[in-house]
Amino acid sequence: MSASSSTATLASVADTKTRPTYADTFHCIGSACEDTCCGEDWDIPVDKKTYEKYQHLPFGNYGSSVSQYVSITTPPAHENLYAYIKRDASGLCPFFGKDHFCGIQKTYGSGLLSATCSIYPRSLNQVDGLLEGSLSLSCPEAARNVLLVPDSTQIAGDLYSGEFRTDNVSLLATSGSGFGRKPHAFFHAIRALLIDIVQDRSRPLWKRLLLIGSFCKRLDEIATHDSDEVVSAIIQNYRRILGGDWLDANLEGMPAQPRLRLDVIISLSMERARDTTYRQRFRETFWSFIEGIGSPAGSPSGDDIQRFLDAEEKYHRPFFESRPFILENYLLNYMFQNLFPFGREGSSDFTPRSIFDEYILMTIQFSWINTLLIGITANCREAFAEEHVVRTVQSFTRAIEHYPHALASINACMRSRRMDNLHGMAIMLKN
Ligand code: SF4
Repeated sequence: MSASSSTATLASVADTKTRPTYADTFHCIGSACEDTCCGEDWDIPVDKKTYEKYQHLPFGNYGSSVSQYVSITTPPAHENLYAYIKRDASGLCPFFGKDHFCGIQKTYGSGLLSATCSIYPRSLNQVDGLLEGSLSLSCPEAARNVLLVPDSTQIAGDLYSGEFRTDNVSLLATSGSGFGRKPHAFFHAIRALLIDIVQDRSRPLWKRLLLIGSFCKRLDEIATHDSDEVVSAIIQNYRRILGGDWLDANLEGMPAQPRLRLDVIISLSMERARDTTYRQRFRETFWSFIEGIGSPAGSPSGDDIQRFLDAEEKYHRPFFESRPFILENYLLNYMFQNLFPFGREGSSDFTPRSIFDEYILMTIQFSWINTLLIGITANCREAFAEEHVVRTVQSFTRAIEHYPHALASINACMRSRRMDNLHGMAIMLKN
């Protein structure tokens, strides 16, 4: 296969494996939901089209609530964020009924739902003009669907089923964001390789993530004038690495510093705790972690590190080794949802980042969740179960994913500690 034909072939790889549609299989559990999305932690964005429709609702039938609780965003924002529904005194959406169902949907049907209410927790992206659909794990039911079902991200759905609106989508971040060249033509080939690395069970997950880091670093070095052959050669080179073990010695040699890792995770969590948007549910998750590794007064220093390492070995590792798909599915869903490693654009909430900064953001969120899980296994011991995983991932995602300032604090924290490199990522991943 000549260089130009292999480049052409690589550039055309796109199939169900690399084009997610499983968002269509999601169904809200309504009143059975343990952490409803109808309010508590956020004012709900309303797109312009819906806002205009709401202005005509009869005063006696939600019209009065519209005038009281639905306001135009200031300063003016993207059409999809044109207005928002303010929470009422209960802290919930004023349209959220005592029966835990949406009054607008019950009275007027799903056609009058805003794009956010119709689509969430589905996450819709458009790549090469085609719709893709993954899920936000800030919804407990979506977290169960993705984490606890072995090949959840490979389930095929019909994103044009009409079950939900499809007019609020994100796009692939372009090279124009001042961060080197993002070779769009190879997006699916790069994604196919990343999926294979995540699912390569011949290596522990921390090594797979460092291999992805090395690949992202190499992609970031692609200069705008570099040819497609250069990109294709990088992808083929890492495919060879995936099949072999020559990189393992380097990874084995990378440092493990559990004290520093815990220090970073506790400081990121405490910084989040100081924020008004901090939520009770994530607070409980964090305290369960602290109870797990916290050592009784008078214990020798370092006792918490030992408890952390013991819990990882005795509870966390056997639990996740018997369910390897859980953390793999977390990473695959993250990659699909965030159009990793290029990132998303199309909303004022998105920040342009380099490919390696996208990698750091994903890896630190993974390390944060995994570190919390180790502490919670220490707290729950033999009673640790899948529901603890769902609650940890869901409460974490709800507390971080929807807050651009919380996401920005992650890369800022790594930069300030000079850990925004593979060395730093090894410290955050290795036990
Ligand atoms: S969080 Fe998920 S399951 Fe709960 S009400 Fe919202 S969409 Fe439904």
